[in-house]
Amino acid sequence: MAIEQHGDARIEGVSIRSLPKVSLHDHLDGALRPQTILELADEIDLDLPTDDAEDLADWFEEQSDSGSLVEYLKTFDLTTAVMQSADGLRRVAREFVEDLAADGVIYGEVRWAPEQHLAGGLTLEDAVEAVQEGLEEGEDAVSGTGRDIRVGQLIAAMRHTDRSLEIAELAVAFRGRGAVGFDIAGPEDGFPPSNHRPAFDYLASQFFPVTVHAGEAAGLASIRSALIDGRALRLGHGVRIAEDLEVVQQKGDEVLVTFGDLARWVRDREIPLELSPSSNMQTGAVAKWGTTLEDHPFDLLYQLGFAVTVNVDNRTMSRTSLTRELSLLAETFDYRLEDLEAFQLNAAAGAFLSVEEREELIELIGEGFGG
Ligand SMILES: [Zn+2]
Repeated sequence: MAIEQHGDARIEGVSIRSLPKVSLHDHLDGALRPQTILELADEIDLDLPTDDAEDLADWFEEQSDSGSLVEYLKTFDLTTAVMQSADGLRRVAREFVEDLAADGVIYGEVRWAPEQHLAGGLTLEDAVEAVQEGLEEGEDAVSGTGRDIRVGQLIAAMRHTDRSLEIAELAVAFRGRGAVGFDIAGPEDGFPPSNHRPAFDYLASQFFPVTVHAGEAAGLASIRSALIDGRALRLGHGVRIAEDLEVVQQKGDEVLVTFGDLARWVRDREIPLELSPSSNMQTGAVAKWGTTLEDHPFDLLYQLGFAVTVNVDNRTMSRTSLTRELSLLAETFDYRLEDLEAFQLNAAAGAFLSVEEREELIELIGEGFGG
């Protein structure tokens, strides 16, 4: 069963789904097909809230919309439970790629935390290899349909555990064999990047790319630590960087804004913000600006010249796709084709790829948007 895609949304007569897209912030354990969960759960005799795929899709949405973090996190208990075997990981990774391609994505980065997939007896290495096999199977299946997609792994450490150095070493060991970057995930508030300084020092010594979840459940101090302790090249969401902006005057279309040093740095160094509109609404990351997408500081950040990118975060929990996120933004902020193209170009420029590969993506995006 396909997740609702907003599949027929058009902008200036062009199908948004058909446009070439880049997905940078997309969790493996947040992107399972409900039908796959049912089948994998059956194999391991796991109890589910329902045995109907459509009802399960509804359940994910309800839990995620509940406003309760506890209810929201239960959804990940369920998805990770069916991803404890090599077969389960491989299948989920293969479908992850196929679903991205069906959504028009030409390059993606999938983030996940291997340490959460060891309950069935896999080693960290086994788990990374299983995911890599699944990604490659997915890429092959897509190329069999005449399209092209590449997906790289972002190996994440959990920020509330103490395995980050080991996970950083794992990521570097898989450089050239699927791993393109490193992240820390899990509870942000109370678990700053500085807790993982040895891992980040090691990654820096190996010149290994890092993105850090920061500025989602915690504010400016977390973003500062991501940049200073983590040496993050991108910010996972980073949406609360807007707390370092002060709108001092608003006359019609004209907005006067003063920048704090941190916001100025993030904008002027073009550090990509992995914004995820639907998720940011559901997790309360943008609560201080309001409760509707119109209140999300996405457009303010874009208009001020930040390197904004559009992401799904967790497709199953938010019942979304990149096409849907772009459609919602276009509806809300009256964006045109050239705006959606700018978001994809920002994402391509921020991808953890060589400069030649990024230029290739930029060319493909230009062609696809009719430039
Ligand atoms: Zn995330």
